[in-house]
Order: sequence, then C-alpha cells, then structure tokens
Amino acid sequence: MPDPILPGQTLLSGQAAIVTGSTSGIGMALADALAGAGCSVVLNGFGDAAAIERERADMAARHGVKVLYHGADMTKGDEIAAMVAFARSELGRLDILVNNAGVQFVAPVDEFPTEKWDQIIAINLTSAFLATRAALPIMKAQQHGRIVNIASAHGLVASPFKSAYVAAKHGVVGLTKTVALEVAQQGVTCTAICPGYVKTPLVEAQIADQAKARGISEDAVMRDVILAAQPTKKFVEFSELAGLLLYLVSDAGASVNGAALSIDGGWTAA
Ligand code: NAD
Repeated sequence: MPDPILPGQTLLSGQAAIVTGSTSGIGMALADALAGAGCSVVLNGFGDAAAIERERADMAARHGVKVLYHGADMTKGDEIAAMVAFARSELGRLDILVNNAGVQFVAPVDEFPTEKWDQIIAINLTSAFLATRAALPIMKAQQHGRIVNIASAHGLVASPFKSAYVAAKHGVVGLTKTVALEVAQQGVTCTAICPGYVKTPLVEAQIADQAKARGISEDAVMRDVILAAQPTKKFVEFSELAGLLLYLVSDAGASVNGAALSIDGGWTAA
C-alpha cells in the first residue's frame, strides 16, 4: 500500500525533480505542476537570465518549495552529469527526472543539414540517455525513481520532412522500454509521454507566420494545417500533460513501466 497523504502534505511532498528544457513551453508547465504538488524542482534550459530568475523565484514563492536552476547544455555529457549531481547535493535526493528538452528542424531528408541531424539527435535523444545514466545510481540507491521521457506522437508515427526528429523520438521510445526492463525491480519506472500538438510559443509563432503566408485566418491555420492530423482539431493542453505526468510519478503509477502513452486527441489511432 502506498503511504497515505497526511494533512498538510501534498502528492509529492519531500520529493525532488529535474525537468530538462523547462525555461519554456511544456517543460515549464510540467515543472510548475510538480512544484504545485509539493516537489522541489531543478529547472534547466536556455533563455534570458533575468527572465529565468523571475520564473524560478515566482514558482518557488507560489508553491512554497525549493526551485533551483541549472544551465546545463543538453548536448554536453559533463554538464548533464553536473546538473544531476547538483540536484542530489542541493535537494538531498532525486525522485523524478523529466527528459523534456527538444528542438525541431524541418527539411527533405536529402537536403537535411548533417549538423542539424547531429544537434537534434544530441538534444532530443542522447541527452535522455545521459541524464538517465547519471540519475539511475541515485534512484536505485533510494529504491524510488520515476523517469518520464517527453517523446511525441512522432515517437510512434512519422511525418515527412522531420527525419531527425522522428528518428530521435522513436529512439526515445526504445530507450524508455529498455530502461524500464532494467530497473523494474528497483522501485524505478521509465515511461514516455507522446503528445500531439501543444500550443507552445514555438508553435504559436508558426500559426501567425502561416496565416500571413497563406492569406487565411489563424483559426484556419490551426484547424487545417497544424492540426490536420489531430482528430479533435484541438491542441493538447498543458494541464492535460501535467495530469498525466502527476499520475505517472505518483504511487498510483507504480506499475506503468515501459509504456509510451499517447496524448494526442486520437492522432496515432488513425
Ligand atoms: P520549447 O521550444 O517551448 O521548449 C524547449 C526547451 O528546451 C526550452 O526550455 C529550451 O531552452 C530547451 N533547450 C533547447 N535546447 C537545449 C539545450 N541544448 N540544452 C538545454 N535546454 C535546451 O518546446 P516545447 O514545444 O515545449 O517542447 C518540449 C518537448 O516536448 C520537446 O522534447 C518536444 O519535442 C516535445 N513535444 C512538443 C510538442 C509540441 O507540439 N509543442 C509535441 C510533442 C512533443
């Protein structure tokens, strides 16, 4: 039986997490949800230093938990290892690792710049391996850990012109299954969340640009261009991703291991 949640405690009281790529979009929303459930959090990602510090301080004040920042570049193994060590030394433990940092580049495969391929594989796939590699000894020693990889619908199906992204996200799903099998008896789970389209700042910018380029409304761009593959014709909401993450990291999620969970309005059902 999981420990009961006592008065004054929240779902993740006393736990500690790292969310990579959490200075923007999905990562920031997921970090906020973990902090809201009582978990201390290490934020990570690029951006304006003052804006990151404002967000860090605001998240800590709103939720009454420790929120720290580490600027590890997710293409660099030594910096990733240093971030995991930082979380362990500053927060005393590491229960949750959300491998979320990711970038995109779109081009036909025979014109795809090789440096873009290398960058996408490094940030979207290899960083999840390196962070998992560094975090697992801590989680095994605790006999408690949750690794949640933010893959994509593109971890399960392809779209043209996204060769590196689709290859990396399929790789993330494979890594998830392998890690899950290795740690299954040590209180650690590894799962992948596979979102469809989510309206992050990155996607929002594309909507305005496409509307201008095509001479159609932003609503039409969302419905007929961006969300063409998503049967609901609606973006996946941050709150929906947060709900799934909180379930996976809770005691109730302890037997969900090695699964790639679609949250895409039905996209990959087609
Ligand atoms: P975003 O651009 O808003 O955020 C990406 C984050 O990654 C930022 O914090 C950025 O600073 C960080 N980052 C990029 N390169 C980095 C590096 N080298 N080192 C450290 N941090 C780095 O993007 P998002 O839309 O929130 O995407 C987050 C994750 O969700 C990605 O893995 C993406 O593939 C996945 N995803 C997004 C969608 C979507 O529709 N937005 C759908 C499915 C999956």
